[in-house]
Amino acid sequence: MSTWRRLALAFFPEERRTINDPMLVFSPYSLYFELLPRCRAAHAANDRPTLRKIYAHAEWCLGQKKRAADLHNAIWVCFYEHLFDHREDWERVIPYLSTRVYEGCWSIWEYRWKFWTARFGVEETNHLRQLLTAGEARAQETRRKTVTAGEQIDLEQWLETAADLEEAAALTAQLVSIRSFPGEEGEVQQAIADWFTAQGLEPELSPTKGEHPNIIVRVANGPGPTFLLNGHTDTVLAAHGWTGDPWQGRRDGDRFYGLGAADMKAGVAAAMLATRALARAPERWSGVVIFTAVMDEEAFSIGARALVDMGLQADYCVVTEPMHEPPMIGGVGKVLVRGEVTGKSSHASMPDEGINAAEEAARLVAQLATMPLGQHPRMRSSQAVLSLHSGNEQYVITVPERATFTINRHTVPGETGESVLAEMRALADSLKSPASFDFAIDPPYYPAWELAADSPFAADFARVYAAEFGHAPEWGYARHVADANYFSADLGIPTLQFGPHGYGFHQCDEWVDLPSIATTIRVILRLATDILR
Ligand SMILES: [Zn+2]
Repeated sequence: MSTWRRLALAFFPEERRTINDPMLVFSPYSLYFELLPRCRAAHAANDRPTLRKIYAHAEWCLGQKKRAADLHNAIWVCFYEHLFDHREDWERVIPYLSTRVYEGCWSIWEYRWKFWTARFGVEETNHLRQLLTAGEARAQETRRKTVTAGEQIDLEQWLETAADLEEAAALTAQLVSIRSFPGEEGEVQQAIADWFTAQGLEPELSPTKGEHPNIIVRVANGPGPTFLLNGHTDTVLAAHGWTGDPWQGRRDGDRFYGLGAADMKAGVAAAMLATRALARAPERWSGVVIFTAVMDEEAFSIGARALVDMGLQADYCVVTEPMHEPPMIGGVGKVLVRGEVTGKSSHASMPDEGINAAEEAARLVAQLATMPLGQHPRMRSSQAVLSLHSGNEQYVITVPERATFTINRHTVPGETGESVLAEMRALADSLKSPASFDFAIDPPYYPAWELAADSPFAADFARVYAAEFGHAPEWGYARHVADANYFSADLGIPTLQFGPHGYGFHQCDEWVDLPSIATTIRVILRLATDILR
């Protein structure tokens, strides 16, 4: 399909039948004879979205002089030449014209001048000339302030076609249909690799310490920074109570239900489609885009750890985890502390002769609440005892000599595994216990992370976010851990978490909002073209 036809479809889907009709000898002229009356009707109704669309499309056509002369000529003679044929349109048309339009259209307006003078008189036409001159000056001022209007309009058109809702929905459904509990991601990883191969890209199956590989796709496009897009393809186990088959997927209006639909196969689909869009539009950016689909995030993050071990480097990273809250630029870390208490066994009728490990462990656990936790203006540390074991399973009259416990500790930036262990040892010392306490860190360990809200990457993202949503983002800070922790804290990559919107993560009847997948693609693409230069 020709470019202009595809764009015409994107802009005017209601004209789909005309544009696609094989029986019509269809030319741009047939479409653009309709454009002016539509534009006038939209002005009369002050229908701004339609107006923006019409002017953006017309301007795109105007810019095709070299590539498609007939298209340029069609928009010239069908649209721009007649813009000022009606007096009531003059003032309302002018604000929609960019410098590119003025530059490209003065000659055809000069040609039209005789007609206007005959119709409106010399005085009125002079007034039109003043209006146009002032309008052009204002447009130049706007152009000076922003990126060139042409580039912006062109970008909007690209986003429109690159972020196709139906394609995103279908790809999400395909990924959901493949069961991928932690440890069984092989099939879904292969499906992603196959998809990239079918798109003409070269996926790499990168080994991990787990059974299944990560998928890595690198698109190198000249000098410039590296942008990493990451998502995980494993899901949690299916909770009880699903209304339908968790892998069948069910669409209900804008919602798509399925296990992992939101967390995070929709995010993976968005990253895949964004990667492809960038690969197909190398003229829009310069640098390297790396897509990674990792396994095992819901368990031990073996996949992300493999990327850390290989020392993956990037200048920016977006993890397309679903948005529970606003875009996240930080999150707590996690230290799983294992405590071992060693006492001394004795006959339980002579407890004084022994050291009861169960009782000593209980004393420490009871004191945990008194321990001051790390402070941070935007994140909260917390801790919870996950297990506490001591004594024999079988009834014996023996004072237990060993006890173990695990504590799930959430940390804030500034706290580390070592600092948590030191605090635990200090707490144990303060008990003046006759038992001995040993502490160690069990996997998985996640460092806390944060991207400063005033950092350049956060500022870039905020600008791009505002272009899409119309307002600046409120930043969120995750209260749980994820792979973003590793990219940010271990690899030192400025990282953000931003993805589709959904609900019911780790529960039954999880769903994702389909339009938000397209929005995620658009934001990623805006960001990529902004930062990759
Ligand atoms: Zn997730």
